[in-house]
Amino acid sequence: MITLKSYLAGKWQAGAGEGSTLLDPTTEEPLARVSSEGLDFAAAVAYGRDVGGPALRAMSFVERAAMLGKLAGALREAREMLLDESIKSGGTTRSDAKFDVDGATGTIAYYADLGSKLGDRGFFVEGADGEQGEKLARSPRFCGYHVRVPLRGVAVHVNAFNFPAWGMAEKAAVALLAGVPVISKPATSTAALAFRLMEVLVASGALPDGAWQLVCGSAGDLLTHLGGQDVLAFTGSAATARALRALPNVIEHSVRVNVEADSLNAAVLAPDVDDDTYQMFLRDVVKEVTQKTGQKCTATRRVLVPADDLDRVEQDLAERLQRIVVGDPSDSDVRMGPLVNRAQLAEARAGVDKLVSAGARVVYGDPNQVEARGRSGDQGYFFGPVLLRADAPDEAIAVHAHEVFGPVATLMPYEGAEQAAKLVAMGGGGLVASVYSDDAELTKALTLELAPYHGRVFVGSKKVADVATPPGMVLPSCVHGGPGRAGGGEELGGTRGLDLYLQRSALQGDRAVLERALGLR
Ligand code: NAP
Repeated sequence: MITLKSYLAGKWQAGAGEGSTLLDPTTEEPLARVSSEGLDFAAAVAYGRDVGGPALRAMSFVERAAMLGKLAGALREAREMLLDESIKSGGTTRSDAKFDVDGATGTIAYYADLGSKLGDRGFFVEGADGEQGEKLARSPRFCGYHVRVPLRGVAVHVNAFNFPAWGMAEKAAVALLAGVPVISKPATSTAALAFRLMEVLVASGALPDGAWQLVCGSAGDLLTHLGGQDVLAFTGSAATARALRALPNVIEHSVRVNVEADSLNAAVLAPDVDDDTYQMFLRDVVKEVTQKTGQKCTATRRVLVPADDLDRVEQDLAERLQRIVVGDPSDSDVRMGPLVNRAQLAEARAGVDKLVSAGARVVYGDPNQVEARGRSGDQGYFFGPVLLRADAPDEAIAVHAHEVFGPVATLMPYEGAEQAAKLVAMGGGGLVASVYSDDAELTKALTLELAPYHGRVFVGSKKVADVATPPGMVLPSCVHGGPGRAGGGEELGGTRGLDLYLQRSALQGDRAVLERALGLR
């Protein structure tokens, strides 16, 4: 059994005490021990601010991009080891492991490429390219320039258990390119993969001292050391987000907080779609319900179909879900591994009960038992796909409010675009809504109705049926996040994501003096 160490202040450090033992979700065998007890988080924050920050700020975008390129290269070389770790410690199939691990590498590589085009400055000057800045007085001599400069603190990234690799990498790539040092805090239950990733990143030699630190185990007092130049980016449950936002120092120092939380993502099927579009809809829904055993923030939780099509869709989805082989994720025929731990298994079962109490009924699957290939006795946290149906969707409030973090979705009927939009909006703000339609008018009405409630709206139709990525795939060039229940945050989106780590400041003065100070002349 290995001990997961934290990487703080330039050293690998193990916490004191017993800590917690992480189990293989397939066999329940002990895999790793982790503790952060006694680690000096005040020193880690200071190290990031005083050592990592100056090193990153001394680099231009192009130099930071080159660093990211080396990190991506190191992860690529370690790919097989990382995939194996994901399969073992996360209970992921190889395909799900790739989604996480390749997603991490791909996102870092994307920001390496983006940064390589941002030039030799380490900050942004708006209007630098031949424009004149803001005219502020009668004389053009007195003018204003907006700059966006890296904050002087650290970015603490607290992540959810479901994407130990991608979750850590997608946040860090953006902060590092912006010039802000990172302290990653992966969820304890799946920290083994994050630990392996960090070993590879540190060994690559590409990181300046203090640029990227890692906490394995609980966050302890880490967040209490954050101040007005620091950033807290959190992914996880709405309940934890509430607690973190309410930390006295976070309130007192207006610490920048970005939250990515729960989301009851909906898929809407329009009436009379082309068969290509219908097949795309079925394929995407099944993928979004079962990929990573439904432990995905962008997974489809609600499926809205025209009332007349409800029975047919129920039958077609059930038929496809039946083909999903559940079991030991190291078996290449298995399509869905176990949930990540016993607590998540209990929560998923309780969640289905909650949806049933709210008026939905199970039409496919059994939350309390599943046949799992390669399972030893009753070991492992297996949970098969479950499809529910709520015939009175306006009344089934919990279906729109309770996220079951497993392979569970609820099918519902709607009559007309207006009701579809109203039902989707009952989710209270989400990460992604998908619409499958070949009717341009309906698409127009729905997309613009859904956009205020979502960070992303995905439109499936026959012409993109064989080229589109699935709606649950977060791409670094488009923003990720959502209002309301989804946390109100925003990440990625190319250069947009860097803004979380930059301060915009309006510099006002003599044009010549400012332009010299900014290196514009
Ligand atoms: P969680 O229980 O809220 O934990 C998330 C992270 O917060 C973990 O690293 C956890 O550390 C840490 N944490 C918990 N209490 C803390 C505290 N008092 N101070 C500092 N850190 C604390 O969520 P989860 O169970 O890992 O993840 C599932 C949830 O995440 C789902 O609701 C899902 O929708 C959401 N999610 C959202 C997105 C998105 O992008 N919007 C992506 C993925 C997941 P420990 O593990 O050490 O307790």
